[in-house]
This record gives sequence, structure tokens and C-alpha cells, in this order.
Amino acid sequence: MGKNKQFVEKVTAMEDDFAQWYTDVVKQAELVDYGTVRGTMIIKPYGFAIWENIRDELDRKFKETGHSNVYFPLFIPESMLQKEKDHIEGFAPEVAWVTHGGEEELAERICVRPTSEVLFGDYYAKNIHSYRDLPMLYNQWSNVVRWEKTTRPFLRTSEFLWQEGHTCHATMEDAQEETARMLGIYTDVCENYLAIPVISGRKTEKEKFAGADYTLTIESLMHDGKALQSGTSHYLGTGFAEAFDIRYLDKEGKQQPVHQTSWGLSTRIMGALIMVHGDNRGLVIPPRIAPTQAMIVPIAQHKEGVLDKAYDLRDQLKNIARVAIDASDKTPGWKFNESEMKGIPVRIEMGPKDIEKDQVVLVRRDTGEKEFVALHEVESRLSVLLEEIQQGLYDKALAHRTEKTSVATNMEEFKQTLEQTPGFIKAMWCGDTACEEKIKEETTATSRCIPFEQETVADTCVCCGKEAKELVYWAKAY
Ligand SMILES: [Zn+2]
Repeated sequence: MGKNKQFVEKVTAMEDDFAQWYTDVVKQAELVDYGTVRGTMIIKPYGFAIWENIRDELDRKFKETGHSNVYFPLFIPESMLQKEKDHIEGFAPEVAWVTHGGEEELAERICVRPTSEVLFGDYYAKNIHSYRDLPMLYNQWSNVVRWEKTTRPFLRTSEFLWQEGHTCHATMEDAQEETARMLGIYTDVCENYLAIPVISGRKTEKEKFAGADYTLTIESLMHDGKALQSGTSHYLGTGFAEAFDIRYLDKEGKQQPVHQTSWGLSTRIMGALIMVHGDNRGLVIPPRIAPTQAMIVPIAQHKEGVLDKAYDLRDQLKNIARVAIDASDKTPGWKFNESEMKGIPVRIEMGPKDIEKDQVVLVRRDTGEKEFVALHEVESRLSVLLEEIQQGLYDKALAHRTEKTSVATNMEEFKQTLEQTPGFIKAMWCGDTACEEKIKEETTATSRCIPFEQETVADTCVCCGKEAKELVYWAKAY
């Protein structure tokens, strides 16, 4: 038992120090290691397996909606990055530059992509000629680099993995429809696969993507009451089309600029997964994206027949779930802890006594509930149980978010609420960036989004007291 205890003692309680809890879990669950260059990370097999499941789900949905995957270069010439003014201004502070090729200094600096709008813009200008070429719907899975001063695994790293969609359309309506459609896909994957409820809406002018007409976002709430931007979709208008001269000949034979979108979801979402569902025993991974959905732990596996039965059980279950078996020589207690640390949704215990009774024990990772199930019923029960856990995690996260969402009608209330119930604050806003900046300065909370589902919680702006225009969700954020 002493050995088992030690395993979990390495995780700091989240109530004591949430940031340390996060770091401990990321390390103990074997998701990542730190890279040698500060701010970089090595995604280990288990971390990558989770990311792959998220990626596959998104990729399937992108393809279902007509998108093709492509791959563009890592490098962008400085002159090309300069073409769209808002864009370069937004990204300049965090760009990494290549200045030398071998010993030779380059005539022009080359930027390591922080995002690829300009590369796609340059390509589209050369490859789009007529309305018949539209829409052009591309996506790429890649890494990007944004030089960060303070970094944390998944949440903020100098290099991260993501997908970036880049599309061109003949009309504003088509492009805006696409912008909303892709946000819808992010919402679907977050809520129905990652079991993370999201608030969807529009970013304010101050918080929108550099170079976009507007940015749509989904925002989720972490266990500590901080928000995390979980995916964004931008309507770029014709700004890049003008800067890069991306035009097509319409049906009347007139030259028209294309309307563009871009949208991205990154490995930051792994941070959300950890901080929404995790507990003091480690990760809790929703069944639909769990690399292993059920772990069979044989009890007294040295006894004759136990391992054989356990392997039979795995074969019996492999068509209905991703099942693994831990037949290592560690103690069962150790195996329990390890499977809990990794957030594996269900543990299946099977020992000589169970075999005698033709039963197994199913243990839920999220609630710790145990149940005895007859061997001939395991298949049907496990399928149902995985769905129950999936739904249970979503419901729990939603209840937490509801509990941590408050209303404020003036600055006093705003500050007090943020102190007492850290989470989302719903408050009315006049639309003036000065108020948004003042709120950030005085409370460190930022505007997360102007939700699509509007309500009126007051008539006046929470900051200046003038007439309110719309409801905004505010929070401290990662
Ligand atoms: Zn105001």
C-alpha cells in the first residue's frame, strides 16, 4: 500500500495550488515532457494518442463539409508578412526569425509561421481565376511558432500543433456561412466528444484576430474559474484579397475580390480537457476520445487461468470498446492508481473469485462507483456505461459552469463577484473599447465573447453607466 500511496502523493491537491496540480498531472499522466528550448514541449505517446483522437474527429468533420487537406511551408518571407498591415502588427511581437542559412546571412529575413494567412493568400492569388474555382476550401494540420515569454504545457508554448482552415468564397454570405459552420463543428467536437460545454459568440473589436472583419469564438470554463478560448473562426472579409490581389471573374465577366475565412483549433484544447474534468487523482478522459476506454486489471494473475480469462475478456470486448489489459508485474493497487492517473474511463477487475462466479467488477473513473456484472452481460453493460460516463462528465462540467457564472451590474459588484466566485461574469457593455480596457486594468478580467444568446441583465454599461448595447461574458483567462 505504501508504494501505491506514493504514486498519488506526487499530485498536489487542486484546492491547495491549482497551477501546481496542473503541472503535476501533465507530468504524472505522461502527457508531455519539457523540450530543451524553453517554452517547447515533447508530446509523449499518451498525450499524442489523445490529441490524435481529437484530430481524427475534427478531420472527419472537415472532410464531410467539403474541405481538403494541404500542406504549406514553415517559412514566410518578411516582405510577404508585411502585406496585410493589421495582421503583421498583431503578430510582430511573437514572431521567430531565421536570419542565417548555414554561415551565410540571408538577404531577407524569413519568419517561422505564427499562422499562415499570407502564404495561403499568395497561393490563392495565383490559383483562383474564375467563379468556377470557388469555393476553395483548404485545411492544414501543422505546427506554428509564437515566441512566448511565459509558457505552460499545452496552454502556452512557443511551438504548438493545430489545424488552420483557409477558405475563399465568391460572396460575403457564403464566407460568413462558412465562418459559422466551422464554429459549429468546434462546438460539436467540444461538447459531444470532449464533454466540455462552451459559450459561443463574437469577439469584441479589441480581442478579434489581427486582420479579420470579425472573430467567432467558443469559450469554456476551467475548474479554477478561469476561461479558455477553445477555438476561433474568422471572417476575413476582403482585406487579404485586396492586399494579395485575390480576384475572380464573376458570371458577368467582372473582376471581384474573394471573401475569405480562417479558423483554428490547437493543442491548447488539451489544457481544457485536463482542467475541466481532472481531479486530485489525475486526468479524467471522456470515453469518446479516450485512447483506452476500459483497462482490465487481473487480480492474483499468478493463479492459474486468471490471465487466460482476462485475455478472453479483452477479445470479447474489443469490438465494442478500446480495451487494454495491464498484465505487468506491478501490484493491482499500483495498476489502479496508474489507470486513474491516466483518466481511463472504466477499470475492469477480474480475479479468481470473480471467475468462479462468472462475473467482473466495473469501476467508473469519474465517480469511483463499483458494480458487479455477469460475464455474459459485460458487453452490453460496458457500452451503456461508457455513454453514461460521457454524459455524466458533460453534465458535471455544465453544472460547474452554471454555478460559476454570475451577473454584475456595476464595477463594485463586478470586482466583488470576481473575488468571491471566480468564473464567468455576465455584464452589459456600451460597446466602447475604453470601458473594456478599464475593466481589464482594474480587474484583469477580459471580454471573452458577445454571446449569440443575448439577454438583458441591466440597461446600463457595467463600467461607465451609459446606455448598454449588448451582454458580454467576462472572465480571467488562460
Ligand atoms: Zn461603457
